[in-house]
Amino acid sequence: AALLLTMGVLAGCSNGAQNSSGTSSENAATAQIGLLLPDSVTARYESADKPYFEAKVKELCPDCKVLYANADGDAAKQQQQAESMLTQGVKVLVLDPFDGEAAAAVVAEAKAKNVPVISYDRLINSADLSYYISFDNEKVGELQATALVDKLKADGVAPGDGGILMVNGSPTDNNASQFKSGAHKIIDASGYKVLAEFDTPGWEPAKAQDWVAGQLTQFKGQIKGVYAANDGVGGAAIAAMKGAGVSPLPPVTGQDAELAGIQRILAGDQYMTVYKALKPEAEKAAELAIDLTKGSSPKGDVTVKTKGGADIQSFLLTPVAVTVDTIESTVVKDGFYTVAQICTAD
Ligand code: BGC
Repeated sequence: AALLLTMGVLAGCSNGAQNSSGTSSENAATAQIGLLLPDSVTARYESADKPYFEAKVKELCPDCKVLYANADGDAAKQQQQAESMLTQGVKVLVLDPFDGEAAAAVVAEAKAKNVPVISYDRLINSADLSYYISFDNEKVGELQATALVDKLKADGVAPGDGGILMVNGSPTDNNASQFKSGAHKIIDASGYKVLAEFDTPGWEPAKAQDWVAGQLTQFKGQIKGVYAANDGVGGAAIAAMKGAGVSPLPPVTGQDAELAGIQRILAGDQYMTVYKALKPEAEKAAELAIDLTKGSSPKGDVTVKTKGGADIQSFLLTPVAVTVDTIESTVVKDGFYTVAQICTAD
């Protein structure tokens, strides 16, 4: 007890010393940082991005505070959430935009208050960003489509036998158009035909499921593969096909290595997913946010062009394809899930 007391007092002393220094780092040590994520139909945001981000901020700046908001797939709501954070005096905004065009208005409002904005995972179409941190998103689409096309070939499906349904992401998400263009590059060169494709509003699985159900009546036995842009819409496509009695299921792609996606892969319902290491992504964003509160702004690894050709300092991580054979050497090896988590029946 004596030791605890001493530690408590010492902790109090060192805080007091920092707080009485009166320098600008005093603000940095207690800064508020806003984290704004786009939707609540996708597991990653609250199961990975948010906790990883908060933990890193706490490690780097124990007295800093993260203000968190989820836009629930609504651009207007996200703008209000950002405005409320600006009113509360955040020093930095880390913004994963529901709508990459609409969010430029948020960046402008932040800029007017000298608050830097980090474009998180999805690119905001604004020249005034401080950073963009994401993955190589065109590569994500290439990995998905390559796995799908290779699987069709391995299964002996000839291009004339049928084709592929494409269930893309949200039309308001810049990543979705990059996934789509990466995927098209591979599929269009493969000889396999795209029977139909759909940009899923807000990435909502229910909308993807309805659309796939409609395509099943139209194309019946012609659907040889489903390109699904993430695990949410992939799971929806699988549900639609199961509901219509499709058996065996054609190969279906995904993204995010969601626990449910990994479990579907093990069950043989989903063919693949794409693992994006969300921990380093969230941690990098936290590090940059803390740097910005201290007035420091390190260079990015690369630059990415946005509105009017402005070059944004950026960090782009590498996505990895996962099939049943590589679950262990990817998500398990990386500590994203334990074997026990994966094997727990839901
Ligand atoms: C992210 C994906 C996510 C999707 C739906 C994309 O911008 O990169 O990881 O599945 O949005 O929220």
